[in-house]
Amino acid sequence: MEAPPGSAGSRLAAQDAATHALGQARSLREAAPCALEALGRFMGWELGAMWVVDAEREQLRCLDIWHAHGVAAAAFSELSHQATFRLGQGIPGRAWAECRAIWVKDVAQMARSERVRNTASLGLRSAFAFPIELAGEVVGAIEFFSSDIRRPDGERLALIASIGTQIGQYIERDRAQRWALQSAALTRSVLDGALDCVVTIDGSSNVVEWNPAAARTFGHARDAMLGRPLADVLGPTVPAATGMRVPLTARRADGGEFPAEVAVTRVESEGLELFTVWLRDLSEQAEAERAMRLHDSALAAAHSGIVIASAQLPGHPIVYVNPAFERITGWKADEVLGRNARLLQSDDTDVNALTAIRGALEGGRSVEVTLLNRRRDGSPFWNELSISPVCDEQGTLTHFVGVQTDISARRHAEARIEHLIYHDNVTGLPNRAMFTDHLDLALARAKREGNAVAVLNINLGRFRLVNDSFGHDTGDALLIQTAERLRRVTRAADVVARTGGDEFLVLIADLEPSARGEDGDNLADALQIAQAIAGQIHHALRSPFDLDGSELFVGATIGIGIHPLDSVDREGLLRHATASVKSARERRSAVDRAPTLSGGDARHQLSLATRLRHALDRDEFVLHYQPVLDLSAAAMVGVEALIRWNDAERGLVGPVEFIPFAERLGLIGPISDWVMDTAFGQCRLWHDQGIDVGIAVNMPPVLWQPTLVRKLVAAIERSGIAPSRVTIEVTETAAMTDPDRTQRVLAELHSRGVQLAIDDFGTGYSSLSRLKQMPVETLKIDRSFVRDLPHDAEAASIVTAIVQLAKNLGIKPLAEGIETLAQRRFLVEQGCDLGQGFHFSRPVPAAEIPAAYQRFPRRRAA
Ligand code: C2E
Ligand code: MG
Ligand code: MG
Repeated sequence: MEAPPGSAGSRLAAQDAATHALGQARSLREAAPCALEALGRFMGWELGAMWVVDAEREQLRCLDIWHAHGVAAAAFSELSHQATFRLGQGIPGRAWAECRAIWVKDVAQMARSERVRNTASLGLRSAFAFPIELAGEVVGAIEFFSSDIRRPDGERLALIASIGTQIGQYIERDRAQRWALQSAALTRSVLDGALDCVVTIDGSSNVVEWNPAAARTFGHARDAMLGRPLADVLGPTVPAATGMRVPLTARRADGGEFPAEVAVTRVESEGLELFTVWLRDLSEQAEAERAMRLHDSALAAAHSGIVIASAQLPGHPIVYVNPAFERITGWKADEVLGRNARLLQSDDTDVNALTAIRGALEGGRSVEVTLLNRRRDGSPFWNELSISPVCDEQGTLTHFVGVQTDISARRHAEARIEHLIYHDNVTGLPNRAMFTDHLDLALARAKREGNAVAVLNINLGRFRLVNDSFGHDTGDALLIQTAERLRRVTRAADVVARTGGDEFLVLIADLEPSARGEDGDNLADALQIAQAIAGQIHHALRSPFDLDGSELFVGATIGIGIHPLDSVDREGLLRHATASVKSARERRSAVDRAPTLSGGDARHQLSLATRLRHALDRDEFVLHYQPVLDLSAAAMVGVEALIRWNDAERGLVGPVEFIPFAERLGLIGPISDWVMDTAFGQCRLWHDQGIDVGIAVNMPPVLWQPTLVRKLVAAIERSGIAPSRVTIEVTETAAMTDPDRTQRVLAELHSRGVQLAIDDFGTGYSSLSRLKQMPVETLKIDRSFVRDLPHDAEAASIVTAIVQLAKNLGIKPLAEGIETLAQRRFLVEQGCDLGQGFHFSRPVPAAEIPAAYQRFPRRRAA
């Protein structure tokens, strides 16, 4: 049963109801209607409203409305919820401002606001409002209206104050709750937004909070994790310790493990002990670290040397070098750190490269250069260096990174290839390609400056012979030695090239025009210089080559082409030089046609040639002398000097075997000089001993030159014998090969009083008219005719004819090779004046001539 309003019972009931409502409700919003109703009923009010202070806006706003049964409060409710009261405004505002209960006896008196007018229209007269207080501060207000005029008494006011306080407490709690909710939301948003996993566990290590990062990282949804032991995902190693960072390996939902770092904080909340586990996924960091390590090991493993220098410290000291740098340069890291990379430079480091580096360092630019550096031990290496500037995030230059590659091997290979393209690989001399390059340049220069250019074409004498008989290694050695000799006798500026098997070319450029001015003279100068050099080359190649342990004489033929004398272009010059080699060869081979050394192979010939070269020095030649007799008187009138070679290997070698060879070796000149001096000297000795003989020497055709006269006359003068006692023999063949020249020489000799004889007459094809013109004293009938005398009719008639012919021309016939008495008689019968042969005497050493002279004494004409 309900106590009447205002009674003590209803007061208690109201307080209980309010207290109960406030206690049960989960929020003020829930509690407000109960509290209003309890108060309204207890006080006998018909309409009420609860107002709370909105601290932010500094105003009261309506939280709830209550009305007694039958009161049409819809409009009031709407107006109330729209209304706000500032401090001191309206009835609730006054209660707030004055902090006490306000009673208005008749609201109609006020009737200022639509809301109050509305209450008046409802027949409500009196109004009452009281503040809701908490700790001396007004947090809200409650207002009531009634149709009666009801002035609250002291007891009711006390009750209202108590309930107000209670409601105040509730409002405060509500606020705190809201704040808590807000802060929880904040926390949640922090946790939700956190990159790290934030997991809250209770004392039993069961998950009570699991943020999105944790869900992302582990792949377990929040719902699935709440209440589960954390050990399920962190393994049994959940750290018990708090306040430390502990590394561990965590496991994702898919079973994959990842490195993590965990810290645990302890939280005490409402007597509960909770732990917040902060977990950071370190995979990315680990990845970054791995990349760094990879970086490091890449630097360490790099083939290229890497050197990092500070761009900010003075002197750009080295701050890092990798192992390849140490390998390439020989410098250890601790020896170079702090020093400038200049320590790799040397005197021959390219200045341009250094300038480029310096410019790049100063300008903070990158640069690539190739330069010759030195290792720690001083040995050089080609360094392909690229330097790049390194800037920090702010763009400030901090370091220089130099990457160096030792390209020495590549350089060598390139140089080698370059060398191969332009050089002969046997001798290392420039090849034809390089020679023509040089020649083109020299010709261009010569045309500009009016200089002459000479090209010498040098052909080795017996290269093929050496190659065939000694093998290619020896042939190569010969070429190499030839190259060395050519280099030695030419100037550094001259280009010596090997352009073929045994062909060498020498380019003599910039032959200066002489001051004499006339073109002809200039060119004569150039030609003279070229010839002088050719002479030196000749000389250089004439001395023996040391090959394969034996000495070989080789010699060379040299052709010369002069710009602009012979040609003005490259091909013309080369052609001319080659052609003059050929014609020189042909000239030589005309006299070379004589048989080579009998028997023996090429190799044998070659070693023989080498020995022959030395025969003069070693005094291995000897002269034998064969008496020449006046046939009818059987008196010795002269001797013919016949040379022999006392070869260490073969003993006495006859002239037929080595004279043609000596001619080809170019030895015949010196040999003939020796023969003349020896023979004439010997003759002089005989004369001194009273042995009155003439002396005949054989002169090979190659020597029939104007110089022969000079030499011969000099030799005769040296010996002191009369020129008329000297007979020079020239073979018929030789005399007729170049009759004009021979005739000129013969005439010259004749005028000096020297006697002349045609040797081996009958074997050649002499022209009788020529023979007539020649100032010849003696005609030596070849042995081949004498041999078949006297029985061979043909031989007999030939010999008879020759004897007759000679006599007709006023020339004395001399029969060679008389071996028998019958031959001798036949010849005497035919009127042949002179003869020689084994029948009288073989050629004998000089010492035996006095005895022969005794045997065939000359009778004084009576
Ligand atoms: P040649 O001038 O006709 O010399 C005569 C050759 O006949 C000599 O040979 C001589 O030994 C040989 N003879 C002489 N009487 C007889 C004989 O009764 N029967 C036979 N079967 N042979 C006889 P040798 O000494 O071997 O000389 C050969 C050739 O070598 C010479 O022919 C001459 O052309 C050349 N010769 C010799 N000595 C010299 C020299 O000092 N200088 C040059 N350039 N040639 C030389
Ligand atoms: Mg002779
Ligand atoms: Mg003869």
